[in-house]
Amino acid sequence: HYRCRSAFKLLEIDDKLHVLRPGLSVLDCGAAPGAWSQVAVERVNALGTDPAVPTGFVLGVDLLRIAPLEGAVFLSKADIADPNTLRTIQSLLPAEKVDVILSDMAPNATGIKELDHQKLISLCLGLLKVSQSILKPKGTLLCKFWDGYESRLLQNRLKEQFQDVRIIKPQASRKDSAESYYLARLYKGK
Ligand code: SAM
Repeated sequence: HYRCRSAFKLLEIDDKLHVLRPGLSVLDCGAAPGAWSQVAVERVNALGTDPAVPTGFVLGVDLLRIAPLEGAVFLSKADIADPNTLRTIQSLLPAEKVDVILSDMAPNATGIKELDHQKLISLCLGLLKVSQSILKPKGTLLCKFWDGYESRLLQNRLKEQFQDVRIIKPQASRKDSAESYYLARLYKGK
């Protein structure tokens, strides 16, 4: 029932590393078509399906249109790198900040490996800036990257701002050899 096979990557990561739990508030960047948001809605109990545990919140953002999903709020046709998007995100959040930022964002691939790598690293660095405004202290950031010569730079930035940074390569990503995820936990805050 997932909108896209990418759901299995997040399920796999979350089963192993417990990024999501009931009651957490999540920003899902690059959310279209919405499979990660479906997983997040389930795992944070955003619909309040289980009354015995806290109810979470999910906000998905994408350049593309995202079809509505029960339990999630979507901001379609929005560029995460645009400062106006940050303001809109802030106006849609129930509290000032979120517990978890997920990013499965990817630029349109040109096929030129170096260039695609660089573009995605820039997106991630931009997201790190956004995190400063909307990620709670001790919060978590999970972001996709394509490996290359600038990965170190991103990793170093993450290590400055988070206590625990690791690289994850889900089984479900194996086909795409360049794709990995940084899982950065325990945000130090500003
Ligand atoms: N996680 C999604 C799911 O499970 O349905 C799949 C995400 S797809 C691999 C990557 C998405 O990132 C695309 O929909 C693309 O439009 C989005 N994206 C790329 N650059 C973006 C940006 N600057 N701001 C917002 N979304 C962006």
